[in-house]
Formats: sequence, C-alpha cells, structure tokens
Amino acid sequence: AIPLVVAISTAVSAQNGLLIRNRTAFEESRKISVLLFDKTGTLTKGDFGVTRIESVNEAYSSEEILRLSSALEQSSEHPIAVGIIKKVKEDNMTIPKLENFNAITGKGVEANVEGKQVKVVSPGYLRDEKIEIPKDAFSDAAETVVFVLIDGQLAGYIALADEIRPESAEAIKIFKKNNIKVLMATGDNEITAKAVSDKLGLDGYYSEVLPHQKVEIVEKLQNEGEFVAMTGDGVNDAPALAQANVGIAVGSGTDVAAETADIILVNSNPQDIANLILFGKATYNKMI
Ligand code: ADP
Ligand code: MG
Repeated sequence: AIPLVVAISTAVSAQNGLLIRNRTAFEESRKISVLLFDKTGTLTKGDFGVTRIESVNEAYSSEEILRLSSALEQSSEHPIAVGIIKKVKEDNMTIPKLENFNAITGKGVEANVEGKQVKVVSPGYLRDEKIEIPKDAFSDAAETVVFVLIDGQLAGYIALADEIRPESAEAIKIFKKNNIKVLMATGDNEITAKAVSDKLGLDGYYSEVLPHQKVEIVEKLQNEGEFVAMTGDGVNDAPALAQANVGIAVGSGTDVAAETADIILVNSNPQDIANLILFGKATYNKMI
C-alpha cells in the first residue's frame, strides 16, 4: 500500500499548500484527536497594525516611545516588530541606532538606544518585575499590547491589532465534526487569547505560554491519551513540534522548526490541515 499512499499524499500536498516531509504523517493524520494551534499567523493573519501608542510618563511623548522602540524592533522578526516598523515608515520617522540588542525569550526585546536602556516587553514581563500595568492597556480585547520601559521605568505602551483569518472558522467546523479537539497555545496575553478562542469557539487555550512550556503542554495531552498535532513556527517551537505526534511547521519552511516538522503548511492556512485530515480518513477507509 505504501506506493499508493505516497502517490496520494503527494497529490494532496501539491494541491493544498502542504509539504509532507515524513511519509507516515499522511497516514497518521487520521488518528489526530487534538490539534494545538499557535495563534499569530495561523489562526490569525499575523499582520499587526498599530492602533494606539500611549504615554504614561510625561518625559516621553508617544512619538518618542514609538521612535525608541523602533530601534529594537528593526532587529526583530516577530510579527509585532513588523507592525511597529510599518507604522514608523508610514510616519516617515528616522529609526535610531542601537547597541547591545538582546531578545528576552518569549517576553520581548531590549537594547541601548541614544544612551538609554530600552525594553519592549509583554504584560507577563511587567508582572514578573512587579511593575503595575496601566488600567487602560487592555480596554480592547482585540488588541495585543507591548510595554515600553526606558531606564527601568514604564514609559508607555503600544497596542496592535491582528485579524482572525476567515478560513479558521471553516477549518474548526470540520475538526469538530470529526471529533478533533481544537486548542490554542499563544505567547500573547490572556484577554486577547480568550477573545480569539471565544470568537472561534475553541475547546480551550493556553495564554502567555513561554517557548519551553509548549513541550510540556504536548506531553500533558499525550499522557491523557491524546494523539496530538501541533502547529508552530521559528526556532523556539522546534522541540514541541518534535514531541507532537504530528508536527506542523507553518510558513516558508526554511528554518529549524521546518526541519523538525512532519508537515510544512506553506500558506499557514488551517483549512489545509482540515483537508489533509479529511483526505487521510477517506483514503484509509477505502483501503481497509
Ligand atoms: P507568540 O509567537 O505566540 O507571539 P512569542 O514567544 O514569540 O509568542 O512572544 C510572546 C510575547 O512576547 C508577545 O506576545 C509579546 O508580548 C512579547 N514579544 C516577543 N517578541 C517581541 C518583540 N519583538 N517586540 C515586542 N514584544 C515582543
Ligand atoms: Mg513566536
């Protein structure tokens, strides 16, 4: 049966934006009981636009907060960084030079800019450092918010918005019809994660997840007897993709995540996974 399966899986992948790296992944796809999605760029478009820049410190205007942040974000590939740089270019701002850039894994970025120590970080980082989160920061559940610290003091925050992919809802209907639980694991904040989960009717979600915690989530689900498929991107997700029963790397497929994945989702579209599962089931039902 192997040559037939290979032929079919090749046909499926050719038409559906999937690259099947591991031959058994097509066969395994029909056993999936839980799909663990990342949020940004998979369930959502991953195309952030800046919606608000708020100063909470008189010493820094919102323009200055954006300008200093842009120095750091120019060195980052995170979709949040891409959104911030897009805004700076629209506003014709000059991006300042930086020194000692450092990525704070799962929490943000830091560097020295014009003699100041600047950090752009998650709400989780503020909580860890016992810095109070401004009241209005989470006034809109659809926004992702990052906080700007200058010389250790909170200067303000930048809110960004992303959109749910129209294909996500359709794909989730198909998973549910096939008794597949759909979960989401995201580094984003609790409020935004809940809003996306509610809108899509997910079976559950994990928010403010640090990269190493994704492996633990996959293991926990497997210990509960689940056959887990997981989507992920970037170097950070590679260990969890390797642990998953079916690891699905999203995007271009040139990085470390793609090397550890069984399947590459070329267009990052959840509907392509739904098609794969339906096709896998139909194929094996006919063969048995
Ligand atoms: P995810 O891929 O789910 O966004 P990450 O671990 O990449 O998870 O990021 C988690 C959080 O860390 C983001 O939601 C954001 O708050 C913060 N963060 C990460 N990278 C950056 C960055 N370049 N600029 C600002 N904040 C960042
Ligand atoms: Mg990420």
